[in-house]
Amino acid sequence: MVNQKLKERFLKYISFDTQSSEESNTIPSTEKQKDLAKYLNEELKLIGINESFMDEYGYVYGYLPSNCNSKNTIGLIAHLDTSDEASGKNVKPQIITNYNGGVISLNKKLNLLLDPNEFEYLNSQIGHELITTDGTTLLGADDKAGIAIIITVVEELLNSDIEYPNIIITFTPDEEIGRGTDAFNYNFYKEKGCSIAYTLDGGEPNVINYENFNAASCVVKFNGKSIHPGSAKNKMINASLVAMEFNDLLPKNMLPSLTENYEGFNHLVDITGSVSNAQLVYIIRNHDLEIFEKQKQLFNKAKEYLNCKYGYTACEVIIKDSYFNMKEIVMKKPEILKLAENALVENNLVPKYEPIRGGTDGARLTFEGIITPNLGTGGQNYHGPFEYLDVDEASIMVNVVKSLLKKYK
Ligand SMILES: [Zn+2]
Repeated sequence: MVNQKLKERFLKYISFDTQSSEESNTIPSTEKQKDLAKYLNEELKLIGINESFMDEYGYVYGYLPSNCNSKNTIGLIAHLDTSDEASGKNVKPQIITNYNGGVISLNKKLNLLLDPNEFEYLNSQIGHELITTDGTTLLGADDKAGIAIIITVVEELLNSDIEYPNIIITFTPDEEIGRGTDAFNYNFYKEKGCSIAYTLDGGEPNVINYENFNAASCVVKFNGKSIHPGSAKNKMINASLVAMEFNDLLPKNMLPSLTENYEGFNHLVDITGSVSNAQLVYIIRNHDLEIFEKQKQLFNKAKEYLNCKYGYTACEVIIKDSYFNMKEIVMKKPEILKLAENALVENNLVPKYEPIRGGTDGARLTFEGIITPNLGTGGQNYHGPFEYLDVDEASIMVNVVKSLLKKYK
């Protein structure tokens, strides 16, 4: 069943271009994100949230006090920017009201197809209402579907006799460029006594995420001995070749292209070199903290081996931790997951946990004292022209979040 209000909202939100930009140093990274932020702040007031505001950084906050004197305060968070991997300007949505299971043509000229043989999840969406792109932009379900779900939930709660806890609503800019929490108002959450939140920024409605990577970056510098190649015998040490030797000492199968699910990786992201100097830059990722530490040790062992072999400091390793898996912290309050599971079951969904192969804003918030797992929105194929929203699934999420909030009353 399609929630018409949710659908209308979603179509309105994707008419705003809110692409964030890695190149910018301002908060928000692009001024245009504030246009949607302003609109959302107005809308919150319109549906009856008396305490709401947009701050100078383009974050929108709303607070709805409990209607039953609940002591709990729950945060609901979504991001208002879209990825910089594809344009989000002039999105022309196509609405498929009753998906028949066939191939969807997004754009005849570009020959772009949403084919269930390629995107298998479509096979489970027959009979649903889908919103796709016209192949020239992304859609913006990531994460405007999350915003539409949150506002629809709150409006429905205000117009029902369901008892609910205190609720903080937050829409953040710049999530896609990894800065979604850079100017987060932790004080507002503290003031309202909120230490539990959920982001609505996932895909399938039954999937809960609470595990992300432990992450580090590693710069390896190589110092060579440059001598004229004509008289180099037994003297020259070519920094670029030592760099290649270094990479050869690392595990061969721990690459992003060869791993999935809980398998970690070392990923070479940059390489420069001459005879006298060379540099390799890696990122190191693993869900398991112990294996993560061992991965880092391997970099140091490779360094020690080469320095010993060449008899001087031929290479230096500089490792910096970036972020950690929120799992350990979430597991201290397992009821946060259990209640989400129960809310899914109540709405005839089979809960499933999937690890995130990246970092999340929820992870950063969790380490700042607001435990924040992630829930689905009904969106698929994020960050490109194949992105689409299953409106039926997004509508179910409205009911799931309402069920969830009821449990915290
Ligand atoms: Zn997102």
